[in-house]
Amino acid sequence: MQLNDARLFRQQAYIEGRWLDADGGQTLAVNNPASREILGSVPKMGAAETRRAIEAAERALPAWRALTAKERAGKLRRWFELLLEHQDDLARLMTLEQGKPLAEARGEIAYAASFLEWFAEEAKRVYGDTIPGHQADKRILVIKQPIGVCAAITPWNFPAAMITRKAGPALAAGCTLVLKPASQTPFSALALAELAERAGIPAGVLNVVTGSAAEIGGELTGNPTVRKLSFTGSTEIGRQLMGQCAQDIKKVSLELGGNAPFVVFDDADLDAAVEGALASKYRNAGQTCVCANRLYVQDGVYEAFAAKLQAAVARLKVGNGLEEGVTIGPLIDDKALAKVEEHIADAVARGARVIAGGRPHALGGSFFEPTILAEVPADARVAREETFGPLAPLFRFKDDAEAIALANATEFGLAAYFYARDLSRVFRVAEALEYGIVGINTGLISTEVAPFGGIKASGLGREGSKYGIEDYLEIKYLCLGGI
Ligand code: ADP
Repeated sequence: MQLNDARLFRQQAYIEGRWLDADGGQTLAVNNPASREILGSVPKMGAAETRRAIEAAERALPAWRALTAKERAGKLRRWFELLLEHQDDLARLMTLEQGKPLAEARGEIAYAASFLEWFAEEAKRVYGDTIPGHQADKRILVIKQPIGVCAAITPWNFPAAMITRKAGPALAAGCTLVLKPASQTPFSALALAELAERAGIPAGVLNVVTGSAAEIGGELTGNPTVRKLSFTGSTEIGRQLMGQCAQDIKKVSLELGGNAPFVVFDDADLDAAVEGALASKYRNAGQTCVCANRLYVQDGVYEAFAAKLQAAVARLKVGNGLEEGVTIGPLIDDKALAKVEEHIADAVARGARVIAGGRPHALGGSFFEPTILAEVPADARVAREETFGPLAPLFRFKDDAEAIALANATEFGLAAYFYARDLSRVFRVAEALEYGIVGINTGLISTEVAPFGGIKASGLGREGSKYGIEDYLEIKYLCLGGI
């Protein structure tokens, strides 16, 4: 694996401070999507091991919850520092199992670490409230307490950051956690657990269970000890998990699919819009839930924008993420590639034109050419479904009302972007977009200091910012009488 610190490459699950195999010794192989080479394996655990991890988290809860916020913050802060100290190894591990270019992987490690730093700080600011009483002899206090044992299920597209933005606030609030990482990218999760252990996070506070999604998910949602589930992934699985959580009325935070519109108005700075589109669309090979999925361009600037985007896309370099200068790695697997092909074929059959890419890349495997489709009709599949690949479909629109209607015509409501300079237009459009996040004259919106999350079928709850820790706290009202 060639890491500076070989102990970061862990091939066992982490439960109650111990590195363990599955009960029956079964394993799951993990491959490099760029080379298809097997990197190693992780335990294929199921319900029994998950139950033990939940019990471990329950045992660890009283002592962890009883620490002062400052004490918990100190350990999170140390975990943050360790991520940065090992940024190169963690980035390399991520590129190997996920495929993203090394520069992006390094960026993700810094981003992942930032949630630990932020929530170490927020841990100390879980303020309550005093409320003027409703009777002369009463006093009213509001305190906030950790929810308890939490579960997290995370996806493969951000193998580190999706973990720390759940584990950071959970641990800061005084909760303990059982995490199930995506089976495509478990090594990043296990390396984070190794560093959590070195940071002094006690046994049982953070547990990582690898293996069968359905079995582990079934236990995490079915076990009454778990009081909350935080999930990032597809809307389809999120809906299913939310249903499973209904039995115990568990709290849920869901960060699900998106179908982000990217609207370019005729008063936009076109060069800035192209730069934003490039960052938003092609980052992580288009495999993020906030990637621009539909590009709406106003009539008057349509041709100019398309030409500039074409020129910019021609400069992208597809290849193995470990190679210098590569800006687009492989897609995660063949299924992901097939979906991009289907969306292109469907749009072309309805009259769209391919003006860049359009085919699997000559490198083979799951590499795909960065693609632009022009004159895509509004009824194409790509207008309704998330592509999760390097495909930018261009749609034409006439006026603001049409742009807003098209942008909102989806069940999703995660991120939207638009480029315009007229101030009143900026406010009108920003307020009319039915999304949890709106990027205005920027294609990059992710930061630990702001609330990330969606509305409609894109999810529940917010991650990051001062709001992020609320998802892991319960409000308790104390009514003091007889005063
Ligand atoms: P993606 O399309 O990003 O892979 P998924 O929703 O399929 O999104 O997966 C996100 C996470 O949910 C992964 O960790 C995956 O293993 C897990 N997962 C998939 N199916 C289930 C399930 N039935 N129960 C619990 N977790 C699941």
